[in-house]
Amino acid sequence: MEIGGIQKLTLIDYPGKVACTVFLCGCNFRCPWCYSKELVLPEEIKKQPKISEKEFFDFLKERKGLLEGVVICGGEPTINKALPEFCEKIKKLGFLIKLDTNGSNPKMLKSLTSLPRSGSSLIDYVAMDVKLPKEKYSYSVGVKIDVKKIEESINILKQGKIDYEFRTTIVPTVLDKEDIIEIAKWIKGAKRYYLQNFRAEKTINPKFEKIKPYPDKYLLEIQKTISPSFEICEIR
Ligand code: SF4
Repeated sequence: MEIGGIQKLTLIDYPGKVACTVFLCGCNFRCPWCYSKELVLPEEIKKQPKISEKEFFDFLKERKGLLEGVVICGGEPTINKALPEFCEKIKKLGFLIKLDTNGSNPKMLKSLTSLPRSGSSLIDYVAMDVKLPKEKYSYSVGVKIDVKKIEESINILKQGKIDYEFRTTIVPTVLDKEDIIEIAKWIKGAKRYYLQNFRAEKTINPKFEKIKPYPDKYLLEIQKTISPSFEICEIR
């Protein structure tokens, strides 16, 4: 498990909680619009200073009683086989855990969200990216993926055993209103769905740095169309 960084305080990344974020290195996708190449591309990961697990847990021990939760983010955290043990150690210190995931590892998601005998799951909240409509998935995230796994993760979360949200970054040239309507049909009935506007930052494929985000009005129009399918549907 390689830790690429810690954000010591966030008031926005864990809904309703005061939290910190830990960034794990490595990802199995290569979304061309990704802003986190230093956590995704092996040649960039190598250049980054790392934080040891000891440093991270020492930091958490100091924040007991001050922070409520830990956001585990990437890269893609679920590619780490040791993730359950990592979560267990965080939970033992008394923190809630939110996991950010691309949904490609339903097996891991299922084990993290299942309730062991002690009666609580290893994680408390999941934010899953639903990046594209089902038909477009396997050729747009930069690698060949099995879209059935994404669907399996969607279904695990929709069972509602733990709190969750789906979210989509609306990248112009990749997604338009019709695509978001397709995604909305796919995940219909979900508790929360958030639409995020694209930010043209240091992307994996530099061509995306020149793409202008959609105007807010366009996102509002999409939100208005799809919101009857969800309990909560908002723009972030
Ligand atoms: S956007 Fe997320 S899933 Fe895609 S490459 Fe970046 S970290 Fe991985």
